Amino acid sequence: MNILVINCGSSSLKYQLINSDTEAVLAKGLCERIGIEGSQITYQPADGEKEVNVSPMPTHTQAIKLVLDALTNAKTGVIASLAEVGAVGHRVVHGGEKFTSSTLLTEEAIAAIEECNDLAPLHNPANLIGIRACQELMPNVPMVAVFDTAFHQTMPEEAYLYGLPYEYYENYKVRRYGFHGTSHSFVSKRAAEVAGKPYEDLKIIVCHLGNGASLSAVKNGKSVDTSMGLTPLEGLIMGTRSGDMDPAIMEYIAKKENLDIAGVMNVLNKKSGVLGLSGVSSDFRDLEEAANAGNARAEKALKAYNYRVVKYIGAYAAAMDGVDVIAFTAGLGENGKTTRKAICEHLTYLGIKIDDEANSVRGKDIVISTPDSKVQVMVIPTNEELAIARETLALV
Ligand code: ADP
Repeated sequence: MNILVINCGSSSLKYQLINSDTEAVLAKGLCERIGIEGSQITYQPADGEKEVNVSPMPTHTQAIKLVLDALTNAKTGVIASLAEVGAVGHRVVHGGEKFTSSTLLTEEAIAAIEECNDLAPLHNPANLIGIRACQELMPNVPMVAVFDTAFHQTMPEEAYLYGLPYEYYENYKVRRYGFHGTSHSFVSKRAAEVAGKPYEDLKIIVCHLGNGASLSAVKNGKSVDTSMGLTPLEGLIMGTRSGDMDPAIMEYIAKKENLDIAGVMNVLNKKSGVLGLSGVSSDFRDLEEAANAGNARAEKALKAYNYRVVKYIGAYAAAMDGVDVIAFTAGLGENGKTTRKAICEHLTYLGIKIDDEANSVRGKDIVISTPDSKVQVMVIPTNEELAIARETLALV
């Protein structure tokens, strides 16, 4: 069966058409600037040239129509007609406490997702627009929602409760949820396969280090803690997000810089992290280059970034009373050998030893620790689209 995987944002939409039998990507691409002047669609068939076409997309329905037209195009398409799309898998950011796993999209499920909108006001409404647009254009195709939060719903109370009045949890569902769940689940399962041991017997720490970044502690096949919280702002220092900090900083900075809450939030989400620290870039390639050229702030940013990861690894080794496998994934986790090495150099207390040659290999699942290392350290490329396709197939 062919499964269309959709990741719909407020003004952009990423898509992949995946054959669920072979797990091959038949085509993929991106619609940008939906609802804004200058919209364009990128379409990349597996065996063909990448195309970029400027085309008006006043609505998400129009964007998805263009995607379907590209997929079925007589010359460059990869399927003959829409009848060859067997199901659609939608990434949905927040499933609150309602969704502990992926779900078939019935009207009831859509209403329940709408109830989670308050928890992710930037993301969930956009995800729902994508769902409605696909339903309009493919009314008889079954659709599934795969949530970023679902995998972490196994966290115990002590891990998800904040030290706040309990009524905030009861009345407003203020608690830690965690994100990147699809990636943490995919990578931890794959890490167990690479280790050649049952998933249910392992203590795994997944380091998903991308633009957004989070760690998870996966014990006996279940997420027991993760570094993001009510929103994806908590935890690690990220590309542009602050991660953990003293909440009193908000009032202090608001007064000093004459900002309101929205202004402070904007700083914490978009102007902080390694970008804010370095003043150079949120991209680790730029930061490494700058640090190598002697830029002291870029060096400070990288050190602070790594230190936070090291602290979380220590916390999760404690939370699980040990760790068998540490798996690095996402843009920086998969490609940043210097970062991996710098982090692992702080982990000698866990008996970790890194094989420099293996640490230099890119683009595949690989164990980067030495055979006598007490913890296996791996690089496992993540594949959230494939994970969504697998979940979708399982439900339809
Ligand atoms: P997201 O999906 O959150 O946008 P990605 O997982 O694509 O993020 O990761 C993007 C980040 O990965 C970039 O900001 C960049 O810093 C980092 N990255 C990508 N390639 C490399 C590389 N070769 N070396 C170091 N960092 C890299």
